[in-house]
Amino acid sequence: MLLGVCGSKCAGKSTVAQYLVEHHGFQRLHLSVPRVSNGTAPASEPAEESVSSDSLQNDGFANQLAVRGKASPPAHSFTSATDLLDFVTKYWRSRWVTTDIHDEAVLDVLSRRPFFILVSVDAPIVIRWRRYQARNSNSSHSSSSSSPASSSSPPTASSLEEFIAESDDHLYSGASGVLPLISRATVRLLNTSSSLAHLYATLGKLDLTNPERLRPSWDNYFMSLASLAAQRSNCMKRAVGCVLVGRERRVISTGYNGTPRGIRNCGEGGCARCNAGMGSGAALATCLCLHAEENALLEAGRERIRDGSVLYCNTCPLPHLLHQDRPGGHQRGCLQSGLQHGRGRPPRSSGALVLSSGSSRL
Ligand SMILES: [Zn+2]
Ligand SMILES: [Zn+2]
Repeated sequence: MLLGVCGSKCAGKSTVAQYLVEHHGFQRLHLSVPRVSNGTAPASEPAEESVSSDSLQNDGFANQLAVRGKASPPAHSFTSATDLLDFVTKYWRSRWVTTDIHDEAVLDVLSRRPFFILVSVDAPIVIRWRRYQARNSNSSHSSSSSSPASSSSPPTASSLEEFIAESDDHLYSGASGVLPLISRATVRLLNTSSSLAHLYATLGKLDLTNPERLRPSWDNYFMSLASLAAQRSNCMKRAVGCVLVGRERRVISTGYNGTPRGIRNCGEGGCARCNAGMGSGAALATCLCLHAEENALLEAGRERIRDGSVLYCNTCPLPHLLHQDRPGGHQRGCLQSGLQHGRGRPPRSSGALVLSSGSSRL
């Protein structure tokens, strides 16, 4: 697993990486800042990243590698994203983290791999400014002579206004702004924590190492397909999608709501009831639109709907379509909305349930 951490200035990227190292056995990877044509490094992020490069030599990093065992090679600093990725690919079952995602080109390279997750960290600017002041005050107290890392850093902001200008440049600069990275993150953390313990507790709740973050469970996978089907809905009242899955987890059919074949799409005026703007549930008897579940079941046909089939729907399925009493049959419906019908215990994320029915009225 490779976690990339990006975010705004002083939002806490290195702290997040440090948490992963300390609590989840991650190891830091470092990617040098690409050189621009005049031979100087672009102004990336000075203070926080300099901490990360220091940590390569300090704080027991080498000891961690020794503990990790023989599979870990010695070097963990890279000059290109491809080299870094090639390295991690060999050892992807170990846990790696980097805060050195300098631009979208690096992100594009890392995003090729299914074991990569991008986490963004942000915080209100006043909080970031206070962290910035605290960090600068600590570093000025701790060493009178500048370290090699800090000597290469751009000038530090001396006022809130300067800090905001630096922060804006870091976020929005056309060439190297990190906003495009943040927008592509799959996990976004707003770090307003006032203490390390609070931040670590928040990170613990995020469960960043959950394998489902890399590969969804079957339930979440089929629910995603149902949500995708909903995008083809032509009903103007609500977009609903549905997937009917047979035993051995094979998709039997999909469906979405809208007017029947041969009738003008609901969104184009095909259903007078939907277009009249009446409240939810009003005049349903006059609605021409078929539900997503109905369409999926019609598409499948009676012969293909076997015992043990599962209906995934991104809203609440119609009970009368599912809850039929027939001895020996079980059909299971998964609801994204978390609404529950019949018996069963919903799983953690999708709100699935088991219904005591075997066939559906078509
Ligand atoms: Zn409609
Ligand atoms: Zn309608």
